[in-house]
Amino acid sequence: MTKNIDWGSLGFGYITTDYRYVSEYKDGKWDNGILSTDSNVVLNESAGVLQYAQTCFEGLKAYRTEKGQVVCFRPDLNAKRMSDTAKRLEMPPFPEERFIDAVEKVVKANIEWVPPYGSGATLYIRPYMFGSNAVIGVKPATEYQFRIFVTPVGPYFKGGAKPITLRVPDFDRAAPRGTGHVKAGLNYAMSLHAIVDAHKQGYAENMYLDSATRTKVEETGGANIIFVTKDNEIVTPKSNSILPSITRRSLMYVAEHYLGLKATEREIKIEEIKDFKECALCGTAAVLSPVGKVVDHGNETTFPAGMEKMGEITQKLYDTLTGIQMGRIEAPEGWIKVIE
Ligand SMILES: *Cc1c(COP(=O)(O)O)cnc(C)c1O
Repeated sequence: MTKNIDWGSLGFGYITTDYRYVSEYKDGKWDNGILSTDSNVVLNESAGVLQYAQTCFEGLKAYRTEKGQVVCFRPDLNAKRMSDTAKRLEMPPFPEERFIDAVEKVVKANIEWVPPYGSGATLYIRPYMFGSNAVIGVKPATEYQFRIFVTPVGPYFKGGAKPITLRVPDFDRAAPRGTGHVKAGLNYAMSLHAIVDAHKQGYAENMYLDSATRTKVEETGGANIIFVTKDNEIVTPKSNSILPSITRRSLMYVAEHYLGLKATEREIKIEEIKDFKECALCGTAAVLSPVGKVVDHGNETTFPAGMEKMGEITQKLYDTLTGIQMGRIEAPEGWIKVIE
C-alpha cells in the first residue's frame, strides 16, 4: 500500500519516513548495520562532526516505473563517489557493495513511501556519514556512523518546469581549493550565505565563477550547468573544482548516444554565455531545470528559449533522461538497479 499523500503538491522537503539504515564504525571496522525506526541521532558534544564538520553525504533517487517496478539510477556511481569523498576527509569508506545493498534495504523497508508513477514525485535517498566520537585536537574521529534515510520529494525549484534566473555572485563557490570533488557539508555551509542573499534579491540560484580568475563558469550551489550552442552542441564546464555530477555525465551520454548530438566538456568563459541558445542546471535534485536568464552585475543574458518554457534541446534531454529513469525508454547496460 502506498501512503496517503498528495504527491503532486510535494516540494523538495523532508518528511520523516518509517525506517533508516544505520551502521557504526568502531575498532577499525563497520558493524553489520540495522534498520531503525528512530529518526534522531544522539551524539557526544565533542563529536568530530560537530566540532570539525567531519561529514559527507550522497543523494540519489528511487523511481516508480511505468510498469510499477521500483528502481534506482546508477547507485554504483554514488557508492564510488562517497567512498572517494570519505577518503579525502580521512573517514573510513563504507564498502561500495554494502552501500548498494543498504540502499536496497532502506528503500524496500519504506516501499510505501515511493511516490506513484506519473505523480511528479520521487523518493530521495540520502546516504551520509560522520565522525561520532569525541575529538578536541584537530584530527579525524576514530568512530563513525554511516546512515541512509529516505524522503519523498517533488520539484527542487518552485514553479516546476518554468525557467529560473541565476545571478553571478561576488562570492566564490565554497569549495576550498582541492575539495571541489568532495560532496560534503563543508562546501554547503559556506554557500548558505550566498544562497540566502541570492533569494533575497529575487534569484533562484548563484552561477559561480572560478575563484582563481573569476572569468570561467563553474556550477551553482547544488547542481552542474549545461549549455546548448546555436549548432545544437551540448557544452559543460571543465573544471576540477566542481562536483562531478552523475546526472551530467549521464546527460552527456544521452546527448551523444540517444540524440546524436555532440557533447563537450571544456572551459566556458562567462562572456561567451550570450552566444548560447539554451542553459540548464542538472543534478539528482534539480533533474534538468531550465535557466531563462543570467544576471552578472547588471549585465543580463536572456537565452532565446525565454522565461516561459524549456528550450527544445533541453526538453529532449529531459524527456530521454526521465524516460530512462521511469522505464519508458531502454536504459544503457547497468544504469538501472531494480529494487522491487
Ligand atoms: C550533488 C551535487 C551536484 C549534482 O550531482 P548529481 O550526482 O548529478 O546528483 C552538483 N553540484 C554539487 C555541488 C553537488 O553537491
